[in-house]
Amino acid sequence: MASTFADFHLSAFLTERLTSQGLTTPTPIQQAAIQPAIEGRDVLAQAKTGSGKTLAFLIPLIEKALRPTQAAATDPAHAAGPRRQPTGYPQLPNALILAPTRELALQIETEFRKYAPRALTSLSVYGGVPLVRHYRALQRPPIVIVGTPGRLLDLLRTKHLSLSHVQYLVMDEADQMLDRGFLRDIRQILEYLPRQRQTLLFSATFAPEIQALAETMMRNPVQAKVDMGVSSPVKISHGYYVVPGEDMRVRLVHTLLGSLPAGGRAMVFCEQKYKVRKLAARLGGESASVGAITGNHSQAQRERTLSAFRAGRIKSLVATDVAARGLDIPDVASVIHYELPSTPNSYVHRAGRTGRAEKEGETVLILTAQEEREYLYMVRRLRIETRRLQAPELKPLPTPAAQEPEEEVRRYQPRRPAQYADPSRRRHEVRSWGTQGPPSHTQAPKPRASR
Ligand code: ADP
Ligand code: MG
Repeated sequence: MASTFADFHLSAFLTERLTSQGLTTPTPIQQAAIQPAIEGRDVLAQAKTGSGKTLAFLIPLIEKALRPTQAAATDPAHAAGPRRQPTGYPQLPNALILAPTRELALQIETEFRKYAPRALTSLSVYGGVPLVRHYRALQRPPIVIVGTPGRLLDLLRTKHLSLSHVQYLVMDEADQMLDRGFLRDIRQILEYLPRQRQTLLFSATFAPEIQALAETMMRNPVQAKVDMGVSSPVKISHGYYVVPGEDMRVRLVHTLLGSLPAGGRAMVFCEQKYKVRKLAARLGGESASVGAITGNHSQAQRERTLSAFRAGRIKSLVATDVAARGLDIPDVASVIHYELPSTPNSYVHRAGRTGRAEKEGETVLILTAQEEREYLYMVRRLRIETRRLQAPELKPLPTPAAQEPEEEVRRYQPRRPAQYADPSRRRHEVRSWGTQGPPSHTQAPKPRASR
């Protein structure tokens, strides 16, 4: 088993990128999944939140694209260059990564760009962005496409996207992708993919019935399960407060946010969108450095708020479960559940926004006495230890903000970091999967469309 990335004998390019990002030792899920994935096996991977699952599917993807395939080595037609469709377009994309939320799709593609050579082109597609931008971007299909199911289906139905040459399919947060909300879309998307392909499913949580369903979509998968049923990192401490009423919840959240360690950030999760808005406003909104994200916010607002939070311009983010899955934001010291999450999985994924990459973190819940009983039952099933905490002295709430939080967002958004720029503006040299040798670094990069 590999104890360093060097043991995988990765291509020089990828090795260099990993080193330059300061990564030397694969995490347990990377140790378990990378080799079989490079060898072309289907992989069903379960590992706790924040344990490096993204690179566990991106490293094999990049490596396979960089290594000339057997076909390319023996078949002169392949070696000659990218395969072309009769229309003249290369047969792309060759890899598809499915994610449940727009922000996660964008994050995965951003992570991919950190490790992949320019020639390995990519695009992320998701709702909330005008379709025409994706139509335009897909005039030159990327090698790797990352997307949310709804937008992918839109693009497939209008034939702006073809998935008939996808050889590498990843479902991140796979248990959510195969749950009721998405299953129909996923089944439809799979109809557009070739049957002969490699399928990789990743999540921190898999209910038994979802796993059974997942296995019907795979061929003799390698089961890479590294945490033995543990989905929440041990370095996350769990605690809860019991409060008598709604008003106390708000004041307690306000007090807890006020006592965050210097540089620490917090995420507060509510069950419903209206509660997110109301709570963010009561906490002072953007003027108190509190942002909000729900499915009701426009995509532009969602991205602005999230990048302000990533960059530390906003210290606290109030959100629905739209922000519970997969987001990897440094220095989230505390995850606060404004009330009891509706499912154990939701609890695990929300809590998993802290304690990432073996860092310490805390998660606290604010519960009524009734919810306390349900919570204690939930943690027993999850095999998590929790303790009841003594509420601190509550601070008074700020006076209500005069402005709507949405208007305030702009003040915190002087410019967006380059890596979160509009994905459809990304343009890279297009080459086909597996038919190229290692990237040529002498080759001049294509000029970026300037807008
Ligand atoms: P998961 O998908 O399992 O929740 P991520 O893939 O988002 O976790 O990774 C969590 C964090 O761990 C990221 O910030 C990532 O850069 C970091 N990470 C990934 N692999 C390694 C590694 N081998 N060594 C150190 N840090 C890593
Ligand atoms: Mg992840």
